[in-house]
Amino acid sequence: MVPGAPGISQAQSSLPSRFLDSVTFPLIAIPDDSSTGDDNSKLTTEETSVKNPQIESTDATSGHDLTPPHGLDEIIATFGNIYEYIGTGGQLAPRWQSDFLAKTSLPFPLRLAWDPSRVITQMTCHRLMTGIFASVFAAIQKNALESKVVSFGGCFAFRPQRTGSKLSAHSWGIAIDLNPGSNRQGSAGDMDARVVEFFKNEGFEWGGDWKGKTRDPMHFQFCTGY
Ligand SMILES: [Zn+2]
Repeated sequence: MVPGAPGISQAQSSLPSRFLDSVTFPLIAIPDDSSTGDDNSKLTTEETSVKNPQIESTDATSGHDLTPPHGLDEIIATFGNIYEYIGTGGQLAPRWQSDFLAKTSLPFPLRLAWDPSRVITQMTCHRLMTGIFASVFAAIQKNALESKVVSFGGCFAFRPQRTGSKLSAHSWGIAIDLNPGSNRQGSAGDMDARVVEFFKNEGFEWGGDWKGKTRDPMHFQFCTGY
């Protein structure tokens, strides 16, 4: 879930102001351009100028040996201690991105949910996740399901979970939101079952399997128990 959607809970009012700032919708765009500092128009040019890479298709089983971490301690052990990069004012040091994040090429363009006039062919994620995300999208493409991925709602973003005060898995660049317009938090959504399958094949947990108000069908994360 990109909690940029309206309705920040009052429970988050005690969070540092930086957290609240990060929940506003336009800042969801941060994931893919904050590392370069480019303005959006330049970003679009750069992102879309990348030729579609030829990525090896995946079989039904995962082609990597990275085990999804379970719980916060394992997430930190696997993907880095983000808390060491958070300043006293709640801001995330830019060094977090340079130390742990990288861009991965996408085999087909994704339309930005917050600006449908723009498409991207790269996205920023954790550097250990570049091949895994690429494998998922390659599988989607191989099975001609690109049309089922209507829009990209964000991958890396520094922010709390909407339903709690802990950091979202998006903060590590290990979660992605797709088709947010029709897969709002708490709804059943309309995520294609085969798209879900391809993410699960690579080790992702699907937010659509969560219960109650935390149900989040737009959301896939490479961790469990968090
Ligand atoms: Zn999400």
